[in-house]
Amino acid sequence: MIYADNAATTRMSDAAMAAMLPYLNRIYGNPSSPHCAGRQAAEAVWHARETVAGVLGCAPREILFTSGGSEADNQAILTAAAVGERTGRKHIVASAIEHHAILRPLEALKRRGFEVTLLGVPEDGIVRPEAFAAALRPDTVLATVMYANNEIGTVQPAARLGALCRERGVLFHTDAVQAAGHLDIDVCRDRIDMLSLSAHKFRGPKGAGALMVRQGIPVSRLIEGGGQERGSRAGTENVPAIVGMAAALREAARHREENAAKLVSMRDFLIRGLTAIPGTVLNGDPERRLPGLVSVCFEGVESEALLLLLDDAGICASAGAACASGALMPSHVLRAIGRTETLARGALRLSLSEENTMEEAEAILRAVKAAVSRLRG
Ligand SMILES: *Cc1c(COP(=O)(O)O)cnc(C)c1O
Repeated sequence: MIYADNAATTRMSDAAMAAMLPYLNRIYGNPSSPHCAGRQAAEAVWHARETVAGVLGCAPREILFTSGGSEADNQAILTAAAVGERTGRKHIVASAIEHHAILRPLEALKRRGFEVTLLGVPEDGIVRPEAFAAALRPDTVLATVMYANNEIGTVQPAARLGALCRERGVLFHTDAVQAAGHLDIDVCRDRIDMLSLSAHKFRGPKGAGALMVRQGIPVSRLIEGGGQERGSRAGTENVPAIVGMAAALREAARHREENAAKLVSMRDFLIRGLTAIPGTVLNGDPERRLPGLVSVCFEGVESEALLLLLDDAGICASAGAACASGALMPSHVLRAIGRTETLARGALRLSLSEENTMEEAEAILRAVKAAVSRLRG
């Protein structure tokens, strides 16, 4: 099997697994318990918090552990909404290519009287700072733009957008689920007020994530109960997953540059090979993109059929977002960058990890070429 769907999820790293194992049975205390078993668990959670904060460049107390990226995104939106309701600012700016974990909570806020501006992107899939600045208003409480896109891989100018928000007193949130562990993020430099990440996108366990909230912003709770996470999220901490997430992030950050170099060479090999197939377009800017992500659309091809043929050849790929409904809806991201509905139905996303090899990239290219010509013929 060749796994090329790392934007959907990744294989857990050996480092993450080794770090977690003791906390799955030997060290099992509840971090809230005052006895020595509890203290041991609490210490592990504290170390994990320090590690995650160290990688992002914030203080440990600014890290809130969640059940994943979706929860972190929801909590960031609700936190900003509460600030907006208190201060009478009920306008929010987001890019049109956000993940559904952002778009759906924004839809819900509209029903609470918020106004949402969805900022379009040009064909290269990159938000323009000038257009972004023009969308900010005196009553804008929050702007949320993802650090890197999960379908087409484009990397947004987060630092520019963050600076614009800071100047205008607007909260800036970024969904960094695809970026954390893969790109150089610094929440101070990038003027980020809130940031979401998810462990399973950087070779940590599924069901663990974090929300960074800059000190001084009062966090709204999604889950009421005990006083865990300084009162921001009730529920006994998922100690093994939190420990595994920190280990995976530390490892990813340590090897980031060498991994990126390897990924870029495989990515660009695939981009060259795929775009040489007639009737193929690359989605997103060719350079300002995640090191391991390739997204193309084929004219006259249905993604579903293509993915089936690739699956038969032992290749795991996707059309875009891992689709919840099963039915492949034309992606809102591909539509936002101007792909026609028909072309958007012929999308292929290949997302590599450092575990992939150039031989695998060559095999993928051969299989895609064969499948595309079969489907067109
Ligand atoms: C995967 C993903 C999420 C959701 O994260 P989960 O941990 O799976 O809930 C949110 N945003 C982006 C950009 C993602 O790629």
